Amino acid sequence: MPVSSIPSRLDTSVQYLKGVGPKAAQVLAKLGVETVKDLLYYLPFRYEDRRDFRPIGSVRPGEWVTLKGRVVSLDSRNRQGNFTIIRAAIADGSGAIGLIWFNQRWIKTQLDKHEGEIIVYGQVKEGNYGYEIASPEWETVDPADDVTGFARLTPIYRLTEGLSQKLIRKAALSAVTSLQPKDIEETLPEEMRKANRLQPLIWSIKQVHFPDTEESRVAARRRLVFEEFFVMQLGLAMRRAQTGEEPGIAFEVSSAVIEDLRSALHFEFTAAQTRVIEEIYSDMRRPHPMNRLLQGDVGSGKTAVAAAAMLAAVRSGYQAALMAPTEILAEQHFVSLHQLFEGMGVRVDLLVGKQTAKQKKQAIDRTTDGSADIAIGTHALIQEGVAFNKLGLVVVDEQHRFGVLQRGALRQKGHGNPDVLVMTATPIPRSLTLTLYGDLDLSVLDEMPPGRIQIKTHWKLPAERNSVYEGVRKLLHEGAQAYMVCPLVSESEKMLAQAANELYLRMSQMVFPEFRVGLLHGQLKTKEKEQSMEAFRRHEIDVLVSTTVIEVGVDVPNASIMVIEDANRFGLSQLHQLRGRVGRGERQSFCVLIGAANNSDAEARLRVMVETSDGFRISEEDLRIRGPGELYGTRQSGELELRVADLLQDGKVLQEARQAATTLVSDDPRLSRPEHARLAVAVRDWDSRVASTDVS
Ligand code: ADP
Ligand code: MG
Repeated sequence: MPVSSIPSRLDTSVQYLKGVGPKAAQVLAKLGVETVKDLLYYLPFRYEDRRDFRPIGSVRPGEWVTLKGRVVSLDSRNRQGNFTIIRAAIADGSGAIGLIWFNQRWIKTQLDKHEGEIIVYGQVKEGNYGYEIASPEWETVDPADDVTGFARLTPIYRLTEGLSQKLIRKAALSAVTSLQPKDIEETLPEEMRKANRLQPLIWSIKQVHFPDTEESRVAARRRLVFEEFFVMQLGLAMRRAQTGEEPGIAFEVSSAVIEDLRSALHFEFTAAQTRVIEEIYSDMRRPHPMNRLLQGDVGSGKTAVAAAAMLAAVRSGYQAALMAPTEILAEQHFVSLHQLFEGMGVRVDLLVGKQTAKQKKQAIDRTTDGSADIAIGTHALIQEGVAFNKLGLVVVDEQHRFGVLQRGALRQKGHGNPDVLVMTATPIPRSLTLTLYGDLDLSVLDEMPPGRIQIKTHWKLPAERNSVYEGVRKLLHEGAQAYMVCPLVSESEKMLAQAANELYLRMSQMVFPEFRVGLLHGQLKTKEKEQSMEAFRRHEIDVLVSTTVIEVGVDVPNASIMVIEDANRFGLSQLHQLRGRVGRGERQSFCVLIGAANNSDAEARLRVMVETSDGFRISEEDLRIRGPGELYGTRQSGELELRVADLLQDGKVLQEARQAATTLVSDDPRLSRPEHARLAVAVRDWDSRVASTDVS
């Protein structure tokens, strides 16, 4: 927010506002509202249309309503010692409705004193004595009061103990009415306000608290949201522009690269892959470092894009490194890229933690002296002692599994400023990508390879397990392969391994004795894991019992069945990633989620999975269910601290703000023009706020 753009008069304490005083100021401080400026940016979270109350006689169960009426009965009862129930009823000309509050004696005291009408807000339920609203929000109507609360779109603020809607509304009104143009300078140049249909700042602040109409409320909020995003996106665009100016490697990428790759692959690139590869190549040709994020849903074909980038680097005489979050994934990349590049004279090496000391030393020797062109590995790649001869390109697969630091560490091993490509599936909505990874250029693979058949997803209750197994048995007889994912028993790898073992025994001995059953979990030796994966890939195993180690990246096209035990315990993005292991080949694929419906969040997750396979939608639902703080707990950074905007509902404004910011920065890279002076201050402010909270 353009906090710094508001001069000091607004830095005075709220206690000096009309109707506030020191006591109320103390309560407001609990909400982080200390100054007048804080209050102006403490926005209502909803509004009530009090120009027109619903006739009480017209309400129906389930509806959320605002009603106005006279208290016609009032009664309080004590139950079991200290437990109090207050029952009241209000009526207007059209009918009456019951109200219930629990354990709030003071409400009775207040209502006893009050003559006249009250306003209530809540959800109508069918009660024992007709319709009623339990624990409604309410306030008294006092004709002597000012007009703030009545006959208008009334702002409703989040409260804390000891604070009433009336008090905070009064305070906000006083702050807003005393607001002068000289107090609050416009941040956005007029031209860009016009171009983006944005209202002036001062108007917007007034209207967002006390809107004249529904339209002005929307316009006011949009302006404030836009500005918050815009300042952030300006900061990010300036960072991008800065790294874009550092000296880097200008690769010589010829069309022969893509031709060679095309003839080695058994498929044609999709239009999206072709476009994205072109975006990457044009970055690689520039004499500045590439910093690009490739976002594409599970199965969209990111590996082939990475291969195209790596081959281009190698053909220009540089080395490339590919870092994956798990050993299984690194090994799989190694196998497939080794195969792909073998005929082209490109040498691929593997480096993972569990190799023997001798294997590791050999691999490191080859990356150091340059005899390895491409190194594929896990975190092992960024360990001390690993060196490269001439590392020009760094690719990080499934970036969401890594921290930003690890991305940086691999870059450090590069030759000067290597190009960096980070890839991620979509466990995060686009709006979050633009904030968390806003300092990177973005490429999106928004198209799936052709011929994919929609995966059929079913949710089954535990009691239906046997019929699920029968269905699987039928498909196995037809030559399909299946993953069986064991329950998420605990965080401990050991317990997980044990659960996998149990499921393995049950599957191999009781359920599918006639099929070849394999086992995969994190506690196995690298060699054993490799063997299981390889046997499954070659169809020497029909059923692979596994923990979530297969979650990222594993690619076995003939596997078309995924059964997830206790699916209700998994998170949404995890379920989506797991399901992405099937649906990669020509068979109709199935995903069966076995889980009890024992809580509503779990049920919501399973329903979303059955309904959609769209990664963007799933990540948005995930964000909705869990909230950004929870999703990105450890890496929650200053970028996510928004005062006004909401990443879920304001995605469109974010895109517009990003677009406008990019344009402005290419026009005036240092914001040095006088009309951008206020913006420059706001961006510096944002920058220091982010720097001080960025833990990632
Ligand atoms: P992800 O984006 O999840 O990493 P992968 O790179 O593992 O996806 O690709 C998924 C599967 O799709 C692989 O089996 C890959 O060989 C195949 N594939 C990738 N691109 C194409 C394409 N253009 N046409 C057909 N199959 C493709
Ligand atoms: Mg992948």
